[in-house]
Amino acid sequence: MKYIIALDQGTTSSRAILFNEKGKALLSENQEFEQIYPKPGWVEHNPMDILNSQLDVMHRAVAKSGIDVCDIVAAGITNQRETAIVWDKNTGIPIYNAIVWQCRRTASICERLEKEKLTAYIKETTGLVLDAYFSGTKISWILENVEGARQKADNEDLLFGTVDTWLIWNLTGGKVHATDYTNASRTMLFDIKKLCWDKKLLEALDIPILMMPQVKNTVDDFGIISNDVIGGSIPITGVAGDQHAALFGQTCFKKGMVKNTYGTGCFMLMNTGDKAISSNNNLLSTIAWGIDGKIIYALEGSVFVGGAAIQWLRDELCMIETAAQSEEMAMKVDSTNGVYLVPAFTGLGAPWWDMYARGTLVGMTRGTKREHIVRAALESIALQSCDVLYAMKEDSDINIPIMQVDGGASANGFLMQFQADMMNAKIRRPQCIETTALGAAYFAGLGVGVFKDLDEIESTWDCDCEFTPSMDETVRAEKYSGWLRAIKRSMNWIEEA
Ligand code: ADP
Repeated sequence: MKYIIALDQGTTSSRAILFNEKGKALLSENQEFEQIYPKPGWVEHNPMDILNSQLDVMHRAVAKSGIDVCDIVAAGITNQRETAIVWDKNTGIPIYNAIVWQCRRTASICERLEKEKLTAYIKETTGLVLDAYFSGTKISWILENVEGARQKADNEDLLFGTVDTWLIWNLTGGKVHATDYTNASRTMLFDIKKLCWDKKLLEALDIPILMMPQVKNTVDDFGIISNDVIGGSIPITGVAGDQHAALFGQTCFKKGMVKNTYGTGCFMLMNTGDKAISSNNNLLSTIAWGIDGKIIYALEGSVFVGGAAIQWLRDELCMIETAAQSEEMAMKVDSTNGVYLVPAFTGLGAPWWDMYARGTLVGMTRGTKREHIVRAALESIALQSCDVLYAMKEDSDINIPIMQVDGGASANGFLMQFQADMMNAKIRRPQCIETTALGAAYFAGLGVGVFKDLDEIESTWDCDCEFTPSMDETVRAEKYSGWLRAIKRSMNWIEEA
């Protein structure tokens, strides 16, 4: 038996999962690390925490499995995206904490770029919406604000990396400074059509190109995890950002295939084949993966508050004791009785993009019960996902008969059935819900020939449950038009963001 280890470096924890050559997860180790909030709206991680937690779980997984390291033939890396780390290449020491994707500190840099009329150029070149979310402005902030950083950059002493690059550099003993197309496509510095760092954007942010990692295919040679790290040599042959890995782990290999992850927020990605689609609905255009120089693109849209609406019912309103209980409570009533919840607690994402929107509960009467509100919260997760899906359909002109799902809230059968009903499409939930790690293992396995091709991978993918739409068209249309009215009420609520 041959094994693959997937290193899944997430926002709140690091995970290592061992897979066998049939793509079955055997064992998983997980470790949380500290979230650092120096000021309101700022989020950081200590890069050494990221590295050490990832090393710990890798060691623990190997030790627990009892597998000989020599039988682990490949390692795949998947990671939280957009988070930026800058380190000194001579010492290996980061010059500042990792600035996490959620961090809003560079909003003013974005405003400057907007004034310099770069918004359209950024969309055209990188496929992204100009926003502090992406890595580019975070690198610029470090170079401008950390004492001595600019001097070191001028001396060519600094390297930049997203989390994948930071891990690769450390796992290979500083030999490899590289990233893959998916991670590069989230920096707001990468030309997703010409497949190179964009000089104009690097200049606009005053970032020396020598700091930037080499960009490789998603399945490629990323060096070898050195012997002193793990007591054996394991080649790193697959690297991808988490949502891209999940799309691959869901075997969405063909144009038009879609996956939605129901976690704290929801992340929907659609494979758009070999063409990057420029969205008219403010969806992102991104590289899904690159294999053998062949690039596959994706459209991406996210919902800020997905499963978090259920956490809110549990922790703030105390209407339920566990997230899972929401299902049984929603099923106690046969509708929301006209109630809609729009959980725009932090504004609305795609396709509405309204940072002034706030949470709204409408349609209540004297007969409204707790069960109706719980049901409305679950429905809101599906309805927001419908908004993104409709935008994708419009942008791509592709019909979507089936959607693959994963993430914590996809365990909720009521939610999945309602989603299938509202989308009028089938929903498929896989047996392995660790699709992010699975995707990384698939990429890495392709790199060493454990998987011959995509067909072989598809044959290892097992469906756990399928949900088939059964809602009457008029009920669906009424429900959705009510939702659109509720969305309108939530919009433009606060006066200053
Ligand atoms: P993340 O990776 O973003 O931390 P997870 O994929 O672990 O998220 O999913 C956790 C989220 O899913 C939480 O917001 C939780 O409220 C929600 N959740 C978990 N189980 C259920 C359930 N059975 N029904 C509805 N929501 C759920």
